[in-house]
Order: sequence, then C-alpha cells, then structure tokens
Amino acid sequence: MAEESRAKMATTSSAELLQAESELVRHSLGYLKSMALHSAVKLGIPDALHRCGGAASLPDLSSALALPCSKRPYLSRLMKMLAVEGIFTAVDVPAAGEGEGAATAPSVRYGLNPVSRLLVGGGVSPCVLMGTSPLFLEASLRLPQWFQRDGEGEPAFAMAHGESPYATTGHDMEFNALVNEAMGSDSRYMAELVVRECGEVFTGVTSLVDVGGGNGTMAAAIAKAFPHVRCSVLDLPHVIQGLVSTHESVEFAAGDMMEYVPPADAVLLKCVLHNWSDQDCVKILTKCKEAVAQGAKAGKVIIIDAVVGSPSHSQQVLEAQVLMDMQMMMLFMSKEREELNWQKIFTEAGFSHYKIQHVLGMRSIIQLYP
Ligand code: SAH
Repeated sequence: MAEESRAKMATTSSAELLQAESELVRHSLGYLKSMALHSAVKLGIPDALHRCGGAASLPDLSSALALPCSKRPYLSRLMKMLAVEGIFTAVDVPAAGEGEGAATAPSVRYGLNPVSRLLVGGGVSPCVLMGTSPLFLEASLRLPQWFQRDGEGEPAFAMAHGESPYATTGHDMEFNALVNEAMGSDSRYMAELVVRECGEVFTGVTSLVDVGGGNGTMAAAIAKAFPHVRCSVLDLPHVIQGLVSTHESVEFAAGDMMEYVPPADAVLLKCVLHNWSDQDCVKILTKCKEAVAQGAKAGKVIIIDAVVGSPSHSQQVLEAQVLMDMQMMMLFMSKEREELNWQKIFTEAGFSHYKIQHVLGMRSIIQLYP
C-alpha cells in the first residue's frame, strides 16, 4: 500500500473505513441493480404478482413464472435484492405453529409497491428495457476512453457503435421499436399526469404539433382529454412509417424539425430538447417560434423536460436527473438543463418570457411565449 494512503488510513476511524468500503461495493456492483430490474421485467415478475392478487410467496411466484425447477431456489435472491432496493415489498410470514417444534420455516411474501405497480401490464417496462439495452451498456463502457480522447468529436454511443442513436433506429428495426415503445409508454403515463396536474396548459389551444412526437401516444392522449385540440405529430420518416392514427383528431407528418415545423397554436416538445446541444436547441426553437407565430392565436411552445436542481425537488429526483444527464452525455453529448441553461437558449431563440411548473416529478412543464 502506498505511504500516503497508509497515513490516511491511520487517521481514519475503523467505522469510517468500513462504511467507505461498503459504499464502494454498493456503487461498483450497482449495475447489478439495473440488471436485476431488467430481469424482473423480462421474467414478468410484476405481472405475475399482480395475477397472484398483488403479493405471493416464493413457491407461488415461481409457479406463476413457470421457472425451471433447477432455478427456483435462486428466485429468493433476486427478490430479496429488489425488495432491499425498494422495488417490491417483503413481508415475513410467521411459520405455522410458531415456537418450539414449528412445522415449517418462516417465509416471505413479496408484493407490489408503487414502484413495481408502474411496471404492471406493460406500464413503463419498455423504458426499463431501453435504459438497460445492450447498445446503451456497451456505450457506457466507452466513457473512460471518450473522456481521454481530445476534441469535441463524437459521443460515447457513436464511439461504440459507429453512428448516432437516431442513425441506429433508422436501420435496426428492433432498436427502433424498443425506443418508440419506451417513449410511448413514458408518454402514456405522463399524459395522464399532465392532464391531472396542468391541463389548463391546453386551454384555448385549438391546434397542436407534437414535434419529435414519436408514435403519437402523447398526441392521442391530449386529443382524447381535450377534444377541442387538433393534433399533428411530426417525427422522422422511419418513426412515422406504418403508423395508423388511433384518434380521429391526430394526424402524422414525416419530416425534419430542423427544417420545418407546421403552423399551430401550440408546439409540444416532450423529451426532445435534452437530446440536443444548446446550438441545435436554438435552431429547433426558432423553427417552433415561426410555427406558432403563424397560428391564428398568439401561440406558445410547451416543453416537457427536466429542469435540474430546483429547490422543490427531492434528493431522489436529483439523483434521477443527474443519471439522465449522464445518459444524454453518453448518447448525444447533450444534457439535462438547469433553469439558467434553459433561459439562455430561450433568449437566443427570441422568446420573450416563460413559465415553469415543477409538477411532473423529475420533469417540469415549461410554457414559452414569443
Ligand atoms: N416526444 C416523444 C419522443 C421523444 S424521443 C415522447 O416523449 O414520447 C425524441 C424523438 O425525436 C424521437 O421520436 C426521434 O425520432 C425524434 N427526432 C429526432 N430527430 C428528429 C428530427 N430531426 N425531426 C423530427 N423528429 C426527430
């Protein structure tokens, strides 16, 4: 051991050293939390617990999952870890005939909690599968090399795969479907909350373009909740290709938002700007400003994205935001923004004022006026 580190150790209490060691193990093996969650989704554990009435013993859960007999004893390990991490509940069930001579050992019943309930019936499971996809994991392994390479260059994703994520969605149909399903599932859940928490945002809006609107899930939810709003979805041709509108007031347009955004009272940008550099955001917002200026009413741009580090956010929300920020850096060399970063690009794109509502957890809703 190096002298310096030996000297430090001598002045640190044993309790601190041991605590530090377990912190390092928690973080270096933290990827196993992601992969355990990935396994839970792939195995269909949330749905199995739901079919069992919301909670089940391990033998019942094993049967519901139809696991091979040889793997059944290992299920307890996965469930225990996920319960410790707050994904499922774990309740001890006393052994029958407690006390001396108890007939059976105590057992545990695992159940759904608000976190795992979000994964039932599909829920936001596609987001988990996208976040833990091999293409993303391989990109993350390139981060040290990416930091050491000089120059602006390409993001770690492109270093690992030779192209940007949107180039990959253009030819890898499995990845394209994974991304569109993930974003669609996020929108399905988010739309409900937008309607519940800040529906007034759509008051007086008669037409809306969802720019980078993916498979149109958000637009369909808005059209359903607010029948007075006609929606169109603008996205890249390979995303729009083959989509059939599920709502009569939703139509699809294939195009490039950098080139043209169709006119409307309002433009929605949900989880789009965090994929782009400040310079590209200014370009996109300038096109959006032109689009809303042409509408019959004085229009606005509605942004749903993270505003990092608001004092109203919990430590858990901050942690989610900085993880998403790392993901954006790795995929696109883009970022999750603090309010000051947002303000700068709004001003550069020529907007006069904005209003932020921190009502969507790790995301906020921003209304932006020309
Ligand atoms: N708004 C959707 C999807 C967000 S993902 C949601 O939140 O569910 C970002 C979207 O931007 C993707 O669907 C991607 O295909 C789209 N996109 C990327 N580049 C684009 C471009 N140049 N023009 C239009 N859409 C683009």
